[in-house]
Amino acid sequence: MGDKAYRERHKAKGLCVFCSREAAPNHTKCELHLKKNREYNYKYYRTEHFRAIDRRNKLKRRKEGKCLDCGKPLDPDIESDRVVCINCGLHIRRPEHYHYGTLQKENTNRQ
Ligand SMILES: [Zn+2]
Ligand SMILES: [Zn+2]
Repeated sequence: MGDKAYRERHKAKGLCVFCSREAAPNHTKCELHLKKNREYNYKYYRTEHFRAIDRRNKLKRRKEGKCLDCGKPLDPDIESDRVVCINCGLHIRRPEHYHYGTLQKENTNRQ
């Protein structure tokens, strides 16, 4: 495959290794392809696989009575209804925490 040589040639000339346009400063890709690459990475972290791992971690924390965000054990007296500790809950109000809490409750009701 002349692929590597092709890329090296473009790199040497300061051109995008994908489309031969001028590469962004200090990069081997043009703005367009840098953006595409970023979108790809972003998409990866939103894939089912990654989210399943994330969900599993959160489920585990929830079961163990730990804060979903920092993993600190929740205080049963004051934090029993919460899915994040007071510290995290005060600063971060991400809707998924609440969504997550409702989801859990729904599941228990059904069983
Ligand atoms: Zn390009
Ligand atoms: Zn926390």
